[in-house]
Amino acid sequence: MKNVLHVSSECYPAAKAGGMGDVVGALPAYLPEHDILASVVIPKYKIKWFLDKIFTTIYEGTFPIGDQKQSFTVQKLTSTGMPFPFYCIDLPGLFDRDSIYLAENGQGFKDEPKRNIAFQTAVMEWLIVRYEKFDIVHVHDHMMGLIPFFMKFCPKYKKLKNNPSILSIHNGSYRGQFVWNEVKSFLPEIADSDLGVLDWDGQINSLATAIKCAWAIITVSPAYMLELVRDSDTLSPLYATELNKCQGILNGIDSKNWDPRSDTYLSEHLKSYKKEDWITFKAANKALLQEKYKLKKDRPLIGFIGRFAFQKGADLLADAIRAGLASKMKFNAFILGSGDKELEQKVMHLSNAFPGVVGTEIAYNEQLARLVYAGCDFLIMPSRFEPCGLNQLYSMRYGTVPIASHVGGLKDTVIDVINGGQGIVINTLDQNGLMNGISRAIKLFKDKKKFLKLIHTITQLDYSWNNSASLYAKLYSKYLN
Ligand code: ADP
Repeated sequence: MKNVLHVSSECYPAAKAGGMGDVVGALPAYLPEHDILASVVIPKYKIKWFLDKIFTTIYEGTFPIGDQKQSFTVQKLTSTGMPFPFYCIDLPGLFDRDSIYLAENGQGFKDEPKRNIAFQTAVMEWLIVRYEKFDIVHVHDHMMGLIPFFMKFCPKYKKLKNNPSILSIHNGSYRGQFVWNEVKSFLPEIADSDLGVLDWDGQINSLATAIKCAWAIITVSPAYMLELVRDSDTLSPLYATELNKCQGILNGIDSKNWDPRSDTYLSEHLKSYKKEDWITFKAANKALLQEKYKLKKDRPLIGFIGRFAFQKGADLLADAIRAGLASKMKFNAFILGSGDKELEQKVMHLSNAFPGVVGTEIAYNEQLARLVYAGCDFLIMPSRFEPCGLNQLYSMRYGTVPIASHVGGLKDTVIDVINGGQGIVINTLDQNGLMNGISRAIKLFKDKKKFLKLIHTITQLDYSWNNSASLYAKLYSKYLN
């Protein structure tokens, strides 16, 4: 069996802030059937999952960073908890915090450049002593984007020069850009003549560096790859230059973990895939959500789950819900998310203005998310861009019809019912476009026969990792031969 090491800042269930955590926590489990043993390494955070797990230290080291020495240990999970070999790196003072990315004020940690570089350096320090163990190093997003560069250009790590590295882009809008003179001293030794590779537009740009240095670039859907080439502001020309090593592979979902029949986060489970059992399942979970948030009955319930960031369009959604309800449209909405503080306020005001109609929870809450997927009739995703989007896949698996904008991975996975597909597509991403989508959902909900047929159709779709894992295996085999 060949070995691949996934290097990431998230891995479900240990540490998850979004879709990348889901992917890194699921894909490796689907690779052994393709003769690939995939392991994962992430930073060791001081968060709940780690507390009752047992780790064995397999490597200890130190490296210089700035004018200090950083110690670290690589620890392997020896208790249960992950379905594949799982490592974490303990970097005292840098990652032993109770949040993955954000400080208490909701902003990123101030020492992000140092933390990122330190973790990536620790990975390299470990890899040069274990370089024969991993045939491919697969890094995720800009946080790990310097590793393909370190492998190729750092004299200290030259043993890894010819090892293939692969970059997955889960979100190309975050780039890990650092001001040269603030960060240069944190880098391992690099020849002056090679420093230019790190530069894009006068700054160190971790994503651009990875795009230049990795052997293959994967985006998490085919449509998003095309969008990056066409419309990624200053990075578009770089994607165009590197196009021959770029490929989009649609994310899958972990159908064992996301199973309405056994989801451990749910109290009401699906008994079987028979139509009548779906009706019971949806009704029971909807009732729980309605009771908990004191929502009116007999209305379609439209859910939203996501980060309150420009990308996800929750601002547009709040305006459209307000306008729709003001114009007497009959629906309930439930919003689960957190992020931008102004938007959090806006959503709370909306909920206060429409008691019994708009429910909200400003939080990151995995258990509640599962109830929203199970209990809503529709899940709305007014994303301005969406590298893949997992919510629409989870919602369909739980019998919830997606209402989605026509971007990125949503384009690849949500076809409008008008065109024989399985959801409602928002073609114009503005207040009217969203209200139109909601109004179509209300109409569809009233046509019980058509609505139930649609639920039956979406729950039959297979978006499991099986298909996509074989595409990854094919990609790996290209570099293993
Ligand atoms: P992102 O851009 O945030 O990574 P994805 O659609 O790829 O978006 O993945 C989002 C993942 O994060 C899904 O598993 C979704 O259920 C989860 N998620 C997002 N926001 C929340 C929240 N507030 N509470 C619980 N889960 C959330």
